[in-house]
Amino acid sequence: MVPIQENAMTAQLKRNFVEMNIRMTKNEALEEANRCLYCYDAPCIKACPTSIPIPNFIKKIASGNIKGSAMTIMEANPIGASCARVCPTEELCEGACVLNASTKPIKIGHLQRYATDWAMDSDVELFKQGQSNGLKIAIVGSGPAGLSAARELSRFGYSVTIFEAEAKAGGLGNYGIVSFRLPNNVVDWEIEQVIKLGVDIKTNTRVGVDISADDILARYDSVILAVGMGSVPKLGIEGEDLAGVHDAIEFVKQTKIGSLTEEIVGKRVAVIGAGNTAIDGATCAVRLGAEQVEILYRRTEKEMTAYKFEYEFAKQDGVGFKWLTAPKRVIGDETGKVVGLECVKMQLGEPGVDGRQRPEEVKGSEFVMELDAIIKAIGQTRFIQLIEAFGLQHTNGVVDIDETTMQTSNKKVFACGDVVFGNGQGEAMVVTAAQQGKDAAYIIHERLRKPSEIA
Ligand code: FAD
Repeated sequence: MVPIQENAMTAQLKRNFVEMNIRMTKNEALEEANRCLYCYDAPCIKACPTSIPIPNFIKKIASGNIKGSAMTIMEANPIGASCARVCPTEELCEGACVLNASTKPIKIGHLQRYATDWAMDSDVELFKQGQSNGLKIAIVGSGPAGLSAARELSRFGYSVTIFEAEAKAGGLGNYGIVSFRLPNNVVDWEIEQVIKLGVDIKTNTRVGVDISADDILARYDSVILAVGMGSVPKLGIEGEDLAGVHDAIEFVKQTKIGSLTEEIVGKRVAVIGAGNTAIDGATCAVRLGAEQVEILYRRTEKEMTAYKFEYEFAKQDGVGFKWLTAPKRVIGDETGKVVGLECVKMQLGEPGVDGRQRPEEVKGSEFVMELDAIIKAIGQTRFIQLIEAFGLQHTNGVVDIDETTMQTSNKKVFACGDVVFGNGQGEAMVVTAAQQGKDAAYIIHERLRKPSEIA
């Protein structure tokens, strides 16, 4: 029998991971929608990678046509309900709102959520499958890029099969983006919309293991590679395989689909890296009950890649930051469990080939942090073996494409989403992956065109 105290603790942890933002009420949505200036040539549309006609969907909210509003959003962005929650709107649509100059920007993300939540709750049919054109498309990966491509292709009448390695579709939406920002039911609804259009999603099917790339190339008229990126790379330091050293993506995944217990991280946690994934790791650790969570970064605050609002969010959560600090050695106890991390202070030296000042060790500045867990968040690896199994050219695991056609070095294969996301492009985003998925679908349709209209 489970002790009562344990139940209360589990319930508390679950509450910690409940979505933070509260949905707008009808009155709040109407009031906000009526503040919109409905700009001609609206800058918010230009700032949206999926070009959602934002003033148009806001006007529909103001006039009470919520279904029309949801359709406008979802037509432009098949992942529009997720994006209402996860888009860095301050950097995109809301950052471009003309009202920034006089008062405050329209809460576009909240309004988008208001309309798409309505669609989710009312279970209305938004789009229809196109009449079959007899052509078959395979999509590898069911994240935002794969799902967006699938929806559009199905509306054009293609028979679409998605191969997905995980037990559930949705990619990082279901496995990687923290639950308190994106609950899984939202992603599940978007997946359902795609399945309702006749798309066959074969989960638990890892291409390259359960089915070969050659098999897929032989059986389908076109292929879209949308596998995203892999796990967090190795730090390359002693002790990093000890128990208690976590890959940030696997760690967040556990908080989304695993059972929540305080034991996962204990009380003292260091997070290595200073991008948005590091912030996610740190804020999840806080929600699991860690009392001292510090982000370690070998450069300074100025060079960190996390968005400003993410940085502020982490600080509000009580996360500390140790700048110019690099990990040197993970220290374990006799049971093979992490008990500390030896670190060294850094200083910025001459610029490297990328133009950024290179961090250098300050000799003799080593110190030890006593820890219960370490979360690594220093980027993501690439699926080079799979990319090469398809015979595609790539640059360090980033698939080479013609940027206007998303076409790879194999004319039959298109690639989109994180699998084509390269260094120096800022932070990867759901909304960009969604747009690239649409782009790939439109190009394939243009190339294989049959006389069918989009439904
Ligand atoms: P993914 O979402 O990674 O989907 C790829 C899919 O391919 C996965 O389901 C995977 O299982 C599958 N796959 C891989 N290999 C195979 C194979 N061999 N066979 C079959 N299937 C395979 N972006 C935002 O806009 N806002 C955020 O708040 C945000 N938070 C993030 C937090 C974290 C921790 C991370 C890691 C990323 C975050 N991102 C965020 C980025 C965003 O999640 C990605 O840019 C986006 O999911 C990319 O979509 P995708 O479809 O290309 O790839």
